[in-house]
Amino acid sequence: MANDQTIRQVPGLYRRRVGDFVVTAVNDGIVPIPAEVMVGMAPEEVQKALASRFRPADPHVTIGTYLVEHGGSRTLVDTGSRNLMGPTLGKLLKNLAVLGVIPDQIDRIALTHLHPDHAGGMLDDEGKAVFPRAEVFISLDEEKYWLGGEPPTDALGISAQVNSYASQLRKVYGDRWHAIGEEEVIPGMRREALPGHTPGHSGYHISSGTDELLIWGDITHVPVVQIAHPEVGLAFDVDVEQGRATRRRILDRISADRLAIGGMHLEFPGFGHVVRNSSGYEYVPDLWMPEI
Ligand SMILES: [Zn+2]
Repeated sequence: MANDQTIRQVPGLYRRRVGDFVVTAVNDGIVPIPAEVMVGMAPEEVQKALASRFRPADPHVTIGTYLVEHGGSRTLVDTGSRNLMGPTLGKLLKNLAVLGVIPDQIDRIALTHLHPDHAGGMLDDEGKAVFPRAEVFISLDEEKYWLGGEPPTDALGISAQVNSYASQLRKVYGDRWHAIGEEEVIPGMRREALPGHTPGHSGYHISSGTDELLIWGDITHVPVVQIAHPEVGLAFDVDVEQGRATRRRILDRISADRLAIGGMHLEFPGFGHVVRNSSGYEYVPDLWMPEI
């Protein structure tokens, strides 16, 4: 894909303040997926919806992570995909380096779920921990589903891979691996159950003073389609129906409460709001600010 005419984008970083917290969207890359992977809308309708929003014909899925800084501590929400999903992804560490942050400085990793575009950045090629000091937080339901007994199966063969990678992760991170309920990972940042995409899929809600942010994980993968059409799911959703219900509930809540959101697959810079209009929901990205 790269040729002499290719101009590399500037680093994928964007910061926002949430009360006393500084939250930085750290991009891991972007990857096209076939329109056929979307569930509940015919591929040609998907392509029409994308064209109407000036997007390429194949849905392009942004992959992102969030660095949450508070009082000198650093929590990374998800870790991108490293080299597990191709050369257009795996930019997390490079982008963190631009911030002056090295893996050794990450105190905690809060995972939204165990899919490879979220947990894939945690082990290097030799199977060692990329983040040597980080305490890892994952929901009890997520651990139970992937690692609780018989490995789950699916038509695409993804579950077997997730099961094997997740068991390796749990082993390598050892006593730094913590399965949690809906509790605080650090004061002011609470795990929230958002089941459907996976059974233990999590959001992280940050609250400080009067300021709030919900990092909603994978409530949408192709937001230009799914925010206007919350009924559209993805073949990778473990429970499409539950995913739909959760997506509707969250869109309703954040638009009513005017709650700011971040999301792993929101288009960069990965922060915004959702408003209700006459035909449904609409995403309003944050205004870029040179100082926060
Ligand atoms: Zn994902």
